[in-house]
Amino acid sequence: MHRILRREPWTCASCLRRLRRSRNPTTDAQIACILGQFDAPAGRQIRGVSKRHISTATGTSLKSEADDTPVFYQRPDLDKDEKTLQKMFDSRPFWQEFSQKSAAAKQNEGLLGIQYLKSTEGFFTFVQATKQKCDSLVAKTLAASTLDDYRAMARDMDRLSDLLCRVIDVSDFMRVFHQDAAVVKAATKAYEHMFEYMNVLNTTAGMNEQLKKALNMPEVTSMWSEEELISAETLVKDFAHSAIDQSPEKRKRFVDLSNEISQVGTEFVSQMEPAKQYVAVTRDVLHGIDPEGTKQFRNWGKAMIPIHSQGARKVMKLIQDEVPRREIYMAGRTSSKKQIQRLERLLLKRAELAKLTGFSSYAQMNLSHKSALARTPNGVNTFLTSLNASNRGQLQPQIDDLLAQKRHFVPNASILQPWDVAFYQNALKTQLEVTSMPDRSLEGLNAFFSIGTVISGLSRLFQRLYGVRLVPQSTAPGEVWNPDVRRLDVVSETEGHIAVIYCDLFARIGKHPNPAHFTLRCSREITYEETESAKTGVDKVNDGMPANFAISSITGKRALHQLPVIALICDFDEPHPNSGVPTLLSHYSVTTLFHEMGHAVHSILGRTSLQTIAGTRCAADFAELPSILMEYFALDPSVLKLYARHWDTSQPISDSQAHALKQRQAAMTEKDAIWHNETQILMSLLDQSLHSESAVEAIDRGRFDSTEVYHRIWNTHGSLPEPRDTSWHGFFGHLYGYGGTYYSYLFDRAIARQVWRTVFRDGVNGGALDRAAGDKLKNHVLRYGGGRDPWRCLEDLMGGGRGILAEGGDKAMLEVGQWGVGAGAEGGL
Ligand SMILES: [Zn+2]
Repeated sequence: MHRILRREPWTCASCLRRLRRSRNPTTDAQIACILGQFDAPAGRQIRGVSKRHISTATGTSLKSEADDTPVFYQRPDLDKDEKTLQKMFDSRPFWQEFSQKSAAAKQNEGLLGIQYLKSTEGFFTFVQATKQKCDSLVAKTLAASTLDDYRAMARDMDRLSDLLCRVIDVSDFMRVFHQDAAVVKAATKAYEHMFEYMNVLNTTAGMNEQLKKALNMPEVTSMWSEEELISAETLVKDFAHSAIDQSPEKRKRFVDLSNEISQVGTEFVSQMEPAKQYVAVTRDVLHGIDPEGTKQFRNWGKAMIPIHSQGARKVMKLIQDEVPRREIYMAGRTSSKKQIQRLERLLLKRAELAKLTGFSSYAQMNLSHKSALARTPNGVNTFLTSLNASNRGQLQPQIDDLLAQKRHFVPNASILQPWDVAFYQNALKTQLEVTSMPDRSLEGLNAFFSIGTVISGLSRLFQRLYGVRLVPQSTAPGEVWNPDVRRLDVVSETEGHIAVIYCDLFARIGKHPNPAHFTLRCSREITYEETESAKTGVDKVNDGMPANFAISSITGKRALHQLPVIALICDFDEPHPNSGVPTLLSHYSVTTLFHEMGHAVHSILGRTSLQTIAGTRCAADFAELPSILMEYFALDPSVLKLYARHWDTSQPISDSQAHALKQRQAAMTEKDAIWHNETQILMSLLDQSLHSESAVEAIDRGRFDSTEVYHRIWNTHGSLPEPRDTSWHGFFGHLYGYGGTYYSYLFDRAIARQVWRTVFRDGVNGGALDRAAGDKLKNHVLRYGGGRDPWRCLEDLMGGGRGILAEGGDKAMLEVGQWGVGAGAEGGL
């Protein structure tokens, strides 16, 4: 409810991707908690200073409207840049010399170049200065009475949001990542202070009323650009979801319910527990299992196997006797009664909240708020059932194979049980390994994927597809939160400097472990008034952070824009200090880095004039499209040929190695992926049903039977029967975080797959490196961020003039479901 003036500062389901590798519900819960810490919203703007300060934070260039490309970038030495790019990540001595030399040559311009943040006390000044600017904008909005006032309102509100975001996003990030405890403390205070201030604004009814008034004036909206209109409509929708229009009593109930939901939701995620922790099996059952793996569980004549342990997984995979497998399966999927009660309390309170705000269900409420594609629960269900049908066609032959395998052991078997899958899959796999020779051409392939090689490869790929490249850049003293952070400037061949990426890629003690992409500042047009007032005031343009000229999507004229500033976080191991060998990435880590860079590209190319809708600040069910699409590029043979080089000899990967890598990955992932897809579809259907109208109907009864819903979904849509008495849904921690939008990751996978197939031609015949395809994606999708209806973007990109996608609605959802998600670039794992 407090997200009105500030949207999500981070994007990434890499944590989701990672989570999907683990079937351990406890891990789900932990990760959901981590997600919760970063779960917060976004805002807008500033005032500036003289042109001297419009330079990039490098301090190397002076700009004017006639010549806005920094001298630094005008005569690029591509070869040198690429070498530097590689070495700054692969060689610590090189990096130390590079960063020390630059630090000596520069002055402290503040953290991220923000003029206020040259010291910890600066956070306080930053908050005070920002609040002053916000206050005057709020007063202007509340007092608006002329046509000009109302016409300016979309931009004024966006600026207000930017002002809030520039403090909240940066302090929220620094309180987690900065190495200095004093900065963490100051950032935490700044965050709390500004967050509270924002919450007051979000509940100021006058703001909502004025904006609604503007939206109801055709003489205002007819003058607004598409961006202004979408941005204003989004804000009004967000206000509506905070019950701002309701009576004081209802408003109070809304606040109470929201707090109760937050409390019971946190309990549901953090206190999840199984009905029983161990399964007792006799020792002779463990015959055939490596004794080391289960040694710690053996006790007298019995072995007590913890249900979500390595030992339990071994039993499921290796023990022929069906009984212990069944017991472990049942115990692993049965949560405690208390946990189910917590979930049902959560669902009923959410249903009540939806009813209070006039929605037919919580899913409906959340979808109308967060999604732009699915829009209604009906649309989501259409997509999921259509996807399930296309997945089922691929799954059935695998089920037949497994049943045939079962009959080798149990001659009269007529049905495959869910606790059979891992065992017979393993039996089949072992059989295949015996009959095939190991492929030695794949040994040592990690040597082609040092971090520096991959980053410089990404730069080459972006140059080919979008005409932008990554340029290594030194940092000033105090600019970054840890000396390990490397700065890359993003430079366009036509527009010059367009973004900054701070890369914090190595693991260190206490660092947040999940890969993520953070937007520290979004794209936004800086008004003429702001730059003029900066000439006479104390402020620098854009607080001193980088800005550059671009075509305004509001006026169509060249105007100064703040540049997107992004932080990429990963947790790759540091190379061993004395080995001389850089960190070499597995193919999974390479894909992760490509995924994160996919988010970054969205921020970089989604350069809107309003920040509320810039780059990744788009609908929840569209946000993962660019990143999942990038996964397809990571191991495509033609892309591999473009960048994969041996770290020591610089020898490019051979054709046969590139193709073998691609094939191995496909073979490894496809079968698992189809099973995994079905689980994800069932989970998404369950998420819909538990937040549906049937929960609202249960409010009066005071009891909602979630277990019945769970069994109905599994037994209606699943391929294998779910035994009675299980209650796995008590372990589904994401029910709290997603609340009716869990389908969105599958949805973006389906779209990404279709984009890869139709726009980039499955990567073949030069498709993966085709500038025309890149331009198409950039011009029809990426450049709009959240500033255009995504269905319209998809229609223009690959609708083929049929108009089905442009219409949106159930027909379009059905179409996306029919595309299927396939095995995905990473097998969906
Ligand atoms: Zn992601």
